[in-house]
Amino acid sequence: QQVQIGVFGGTFDPIHTGHLAVAHAALRRFRLDCIYFVPSGLPPHKSPDRLTPYLHRYTMVALGCADNPRFVPSLLEAGRDLAGRSRSYSVDTVRRLRRRWPNARLYFTLGADQFLTLPTWKKYRTLVKLCDLIVAARPGFRLRARRTTRIVSQLPAGARIHWLTTVHADISATTVRRRARRGLPLRNLVPLAVEAYIRSAGLYSRS
Ligand code: ATP
Repeated sequence: QQVQIGVFGGTFDPIHTGHLAVAHAALRRFRLDCIYFVPSGLPPHKSPDRLTPYLHRYTMVALGCADNPRFVPSLLEAGRDLAGRSRSYSVDTVRRLRRRWPNARLYFTLGADQFLTLPTWKKYRTLVKLCDLIVAARPGFRLRARRTTRIVSQLPAGARIHWLTTVHADISATTVRRRARRGLPLRNLVPLAVEAYIRSAGLYSRS
């Protein structure tokens, strides 16, 4: 039987229970053998000055993945010096995974908000030829909205898109950072080990 591999990219600043809910749902629904969590180096669409250093984001991803042997923290976008200082593009990451898993079925996983930006991504048409897409529902972004349909129509014929409608996680990393800055508890928003790491490393604090 063909190996089924998920790929989940993001800034993960920090990883939160919304990401984990998406990954769990994708694992179950597509019977994935594993899902790679790939923290981005410098994401093309986010301001680098406000981004937490790669090492911290990767560490939190690793802590968040620790409870599930099928969740694999990945250094694919770390760059040669592992500092996450280069721009990262999903198409390149998926190409590298394709080389590592020539016969697997690859599922690139993203939230509905990111799907709406897909036509601005580098070589997005190539990306969708290299893998399936799993688009997870996200509160505030309707999967059946006209904007979504328009994007689907811009994809190459035969693109394999799967809608993951069973997740309803009303949480964002922005909320987590804001709460951490105010010293509010992060229970249920991030895994316990991630909350402890945020505190001990002093991330998202005012200073
Ligand atoms: P921020 O608030 O900093 O913009 P974020 O919460 O959107 O961050 P990212 O790391 O940017 O988190 O997201 C990585 C991927 O996970 C993206 O594809 C995003 O759409 C998806 N994602 C994040 N949170 C959710 C959620 N609550 N439900 C569904 N998908 C999500």
